[in-house]
Amino acid sequence: MLKLQKVLVREFKLNMTIGDTKDASFIDDWIQLAIKNRIKKLDLCIRKYTLPETIFVAESLTVLKLKGCKWPESPSIDQYPAFAFSRLRELSIVKVSDIDSVIINYLLSCCPLLEEFTLKRCDFHFLSVVHNPKLKKAIIGQVNDIRIEAPALITLYCAGDIVRPGGDLDLNVSSCNNVKELKIGRFELPNKFFEELNSKFPLLETLDTYLSCPDPIEISSHRLKRLDLRYCDEEAPRIFKINCKNLRHFKITCTGHSKLPIPILVNSSSLQEIQHNLHAINHLSEQWFLQFRRYLGMFQQQQVLDLSFSPLFDYVSAEIIEEDIPPISNIKHLHLHLRDSRSQNYTTLIDGLLRSCHPKILSASSAFNRLVMVLYETLMGREEKPKCCSGCNTKCWRHYLKAVKVIYFFDGDKFVRAPQKDALSDLFLTAEGLESIMLKLEW
Ligand SMILES: [Zn+2]
Repeated sequence: MLKLQKVLVREFKLNMTIGDTKDASFIDDWIQLAIKNRIKKLDLCIRKYTLPETIFVAESLTVLKLKGCKWPESPSIDQYPAFAFSRLRELSIVKVSDIDSVIINYLLSCCPLLEEFTLKRCDFHFLSVVHNPKLKKAIIGQVNDIRIEAPALITLYCAGDIVRPGGDLDLNVSSCNNVKELKIGRFELPNKFFEELNSKFPLLETLDTYLSCPDPIEISSHRLKRLDLRYCDEEAPRIFKINCKNLRHFKITCTGHSKLPIPILVNSSSLQEIQHNLHAINHLSEQWFLQFRRYLGMFQQQQVLDLSFSPLFDYVSAEIIEEDIPPISNIKHLHLHLRDSRSQNYTTLIDGLLRSCHPKILSASSAFNRLVMVLYETLMGREEKPKCCSGCNTKCWRHYLKAVKVIYFFDGDKFVRAPQKDALSDLFLTAEGLESIMLKLEW
């Protein structure tokens, strides 16, 4: 039909897997036709397909997105038409095979108007982005030697390999003074990166990065407002300093650590809230709870906690250690997350957490175990006047908790705002599929 009529096609998008050569020749024809129509946007996600050479004459293209296909074998880059991709404003190349850094670097040098560039999961290690004065956003994955000179660049994301995290990132940045948002994941960064943060990125407002280098570091940035740190390796420095006077949001994510980090916050008067995501906690012991309480006690700001436990987490019982740090009360929200667990010791878990901190909101989600039920029973079933802890100097959490109110629960189908108390108890006693709950605690 397109062949018969003169139709104006602005955008051509195709997502499929090639079955045989007949499919491929159809697609070649469609692309050719689209290009003849002076198409502006070409978005191809085609597995087992080699791109036709005709894309090099798509002079009108402003957006080119390629995923899963093969780059054409010919012509060689010195035979690419001079105008190829000269109007491109957005270029995205994801998992394209038979393309190498020579081709990509050449392509980039042909796109003077480029504003957005994405490169992910192509198998090479060097990239040079130096001919793109209008580039505002660059997302670069799995390339560990990157040279960038882009005065208009505002957002830069660099990510290492998902399957094999780690490896050093050699990020050679110059004239990128306008970067406001920088995200670097799954790469090891040298100390030099943090030392040069202010000089290389003077306008930086958002930083999201991994800490994995064992040397002590200081993160110091004049304008930084949002800091998202992933503490990903046992080798990472436990003690690090954060000196960012305009910091408003600080989030720290620790995975699988038995030892919690020790961030030292200086000049943090603008900071309102700290979010801690502690993931895949394996072994709980009195020592862990003691460390947990010391960790929370370091922060004066309001805190939000998200704890998730590994499926095999266990509770290593030990004698309760007397500790003169009182339970931490500046916890706005504590969320417990259990995807699946063979552990049954939820009472001890809840008890240990409430001895350590007094959250204003406590929520839990777990689809395949009794955590939500045990949490409800422990809190709602407590005695008005607890008889425990008689003769002890330090009283447990039951003596401080004044009231508990259910805000909502999720019964596997829908969220339900808490009904009357009696109806709720009946529901909890008979329910089997309660997956999450949120409680308001008054201390
Ligand atoms: Zn008690």
